[in-house]
Amino acid sequence: MIYLDHAATTPVSKEVLDAMLPYFTEKFGNPSSIYRVGREAKDAVNESRATVAGLLGASPSEIIFTSGATESNNIALKGVCQSAANILMNTPHVIVSSVEHHCVLDSAKYLAKSYGVDVTYLPVNKEGLVNPEDVKNAIRDNTAIISVMYGNNETGAIEPIAEIGEIVKKAKEERKKNGNALPLVFHTDAVQAFQYLDTNVDTLSVDMLSLTAHKFYGPKGVGLLYMRKGTKFYPQQQGGAQERGLRAGTENVPYIVGMAKAMELVKADIENYKLKIENLRDYLIERISKEIPEAELVGPKDSEKRLPHIAAFLFKRIEGESILINLDMLDIAASSGSACTSGSLEPSHVTKAMGFADMDAHGAIRFSLGKMNSKADIDELMKHLPGIVEKLRAMSPIK
Ligand SMILES: *Cc1c(COP(=O)(O)O)cnc(C)c1O
Repeated sequence: MIYLDHAATTPVSKEVLDAMLPYFTEKFGNPSSIYRVGREAKDAVNESRATVAGLLGASPSEIIFTSGATESNNIALKGVCQSAANILMNTPHVIVSSVEHHCVLDSAKYLAKSYGVDVTYLPVNKEGLVNPEDVKNAIRDNTAIISVMYGNNETGAIEPIAEIGEIVKKAKEERKKNGNALPLVFHTDAVQAFQYLDTNVDTLSVDMLSLTAHKFYGPKGVGLLYMRKGTKFYPQQQGGAQERGLRAGTENVPYIVGMAKAMELVKADIENYKLKIENLRDYLIERISKEIPEAELVGPKDSEKRLPHIAAFLFKRIEGESILINLDMLDIAASSGSACTSGSLEPSHVTKAMGFADMDAHGAIRFSLGKMNSKADIDELMKHLPGIVEKLRAMSPIK
């Protein structure tokens, strides 16, 4: 198999699996129990918390382990809005970018529908980038949370998080001066960016940050939410006192251990690895651009503003899904947009927000690279892709 869909998920690396295994069997204790195996499990969770906090430039008490970024993003928006509604005694306002992952957009939609929360959807330019000035202009006295992703999962566009962070900082000072007691929270979904970019929470000036382990060689079903000390947040899950009462439920010990290990491993060799993946991506972009007519690279032209592992193209006059089926017959895995929207045949909200016509957006294909890939994989892909595109275009009713 040639796997070119690392933005959808990645295999669990051997070291991660080895770190996890004892916590399924001999070290099976419940971290809340006082006897030895319980204490061992608790120590493992604590150590993992310290590791991931260190990698984010945070303190251990600012980490909430979750079931993945979907949960992290849901509770970030809902937990902050609930607290804000209580402070305001009125419905708050939320700002999200229009290219967020569905779990952010749908959480905002849910808050609007169920509680009348007002939502501003920030536009993006043709390259998929948010303008920090638009964030500044969108902030209102009752804005509770601003959520802008760090790196886009469909296009690889890197959003100007640190710049937005500075704007939010100023807006917070302004509020203090004006006696507005409503906290302003800046959240970022850093799922795709974590492996490649600086994710220090102070450098970025973020109050909340979401991650999920399976996008960087950890297991599926575990993630985290970083929450800056003092952030006002209502827990969304009630029960035990786990995660300092912020997320009830017995900790997923083996998966938490696996996530910490995965995070440690990817950050350890970040510079070399980043360069390798960037070179592969540029080779892929160069070959597709040269060898396939009417293939438009989606996202920022400036490669500094692109995540190293993602290259998305619009192949004009054909369906992305048809290309994928043809590639699958050769055991080559790629995707159209995001894994969550594929199958719906609706053009992605991301390409739509970037201003592409629906007709062109239908021909979107995302290649996302990772540890498993080499130049030979790209060469193999390019043995077939030009022919597939040509064949499909010959059958296309659109000329
Ligand atoms: C994959 C992904 C998510 C969701 O992660 P889950 O593990 O499915 O909860 C959220 N945001 C981005 C940008 C993603 O790529």
